[in-house]
Amino acid sequence: MNNTYNPYDNVLKVVSEAANILGYTDSDIEALKYPERELKVAIPVRMDDGSTKVFEGYRIQHSTSRGPAKGGIRFHPDVNLDEVKALAAWMTFKCAVVNIPYGGGKGGVVCDPNKLSEDEIRAITRRFTAAIAPLIGPEQDIPAPDVGTNAAVMGWMMDTYSMLKGHCVHGVVTGKPIELGGALGRSEATGRGVMFTTKNVLKKLGIDPENTTVAIQGMGNVGSITAKLLHREGMKVVAVSDVSGGIYKESGLNIPEILDYLSQNRKNLLSGYEEDGMTRISNAELLELDVKVLIPAALENQINAANAERIRADIIVEAANGPTASEADDILAGKGVLVVPDILANAGGVVVSYFEWVQNIQSVSWTEETVNEKLKNIMDPAFEAVWDISRKNNGTLRTGAYLIAVKRVVEAKKARAIWP
Ligand code: GLU
Repeated sequence: MNNTYNPYDNVLKVVSEAANILGYTDSDIEALKYPERELKVAIPVRMDDGSTKVFEGYRIQHSTSRGPAKGGIRFHPDVNLDEVKALAAWMTFKCAVVNIPYGGGKGGVVCDPNKLSEDEIRAITRRFTAAIAPLIGPEQDIPAPDVGTNAAVMGWMMDTYSMLKGHCVHGVVTGKPIELGGALGRSEATGRGVMFTTKNVLKKLGIDPENTTVAIQGMGNVGSITAKLLHREGMKVVAVSDVSGGIYKESGLNIPEILDYLSQNRKNLLSGYEEDGMTRISNAELLELDVKVLIPAALENQINAANAERIRADIIVEAANGPTASEADDILAGKGVLVVPDILANAGGVVVSYFEWVQNIQSVSWTEETVNEKLKNIMDPAFEAVWDISRKNNGTLRTGAYLIAVKRVVEAKKARAIWP
């Protein structure tokens, strides 16, 4: 990562650009530059060895103009204030571009879940939830999984919040275990949305999915489900990677086997996986492969001024949040690389989170088929709308997505007017 990278500045840049095109004044977008609420908390935890350790955590609500704040909780050693601010703002525009009635929020704890026991992760989760409890709730701010968290963590958050309230509150978090009101299809939703988006862009360009080569950076929840579904759609996934590095095979990797290997043990990494004909590559090399579609599904700022010139993919589908720094956007556009932006491409997760919340509030449950169909019915038209406006505006898909999203947020703000 370069030292000057500030993800929040990246968000402000693209928002201002869209606002200019839309003809909004500085006053129209001034409030969007500031998160509505930022909470920093200290989380003391009794570790397995008996010592006490204090972790740092955040919950930030960027906007609640269009509805309750919505967005995940990240457990990662690199979590910091500017990152969480940016992630919260991206949620505001993500929810707006797919038109679900939420604002944007995000939270995180500076910790490395790979070096913690389950008891320690649960203890961090419970104390963190208690610390942010004044801010969250089904009508205020609804957390969900993100990098380093999962359904189990959401279950503990829901339990902690419910214990504090004295009654069961299903709708306070989404991405919960199914037994606690989690939506069927939620765990695969982000990857499924990436799959719909990838198919949509290939269709627009007249490219046959069969034998389309794909490289995926990141084998967490999003990367692995994306790999599974794209493979199932007949695409040739030639490279995947995780924190331990990547693997490449020109004729296509055996994705089901890889996923099976990774799921056998929480600590299994690609560095321990073997397959005939594969070679080991670094994460940096994966990004620069000559493939049709590159899918960054890990962290921010992976494609930046340092490597953008060397990107050889024709299409980038951003499954991660903020994988392309703004400086790289210009270089990629100049090279003719088509970038499908994060706020559209990875919105499937929060869309099905919305479905989960709707089901929780009404105490109903939908089948997985219903969820997947409703997801497609949101993702496909959202893609069409972004595609059309980008063509009309003669700009990138990112600018197009922000034209739609910024307009929705600003119009909601205007309709509410400034209180008091
Ligand atoms: N963390 C996911 C994201 O970045 C999901 C958020 C949610 O479901 O609220 O979109």
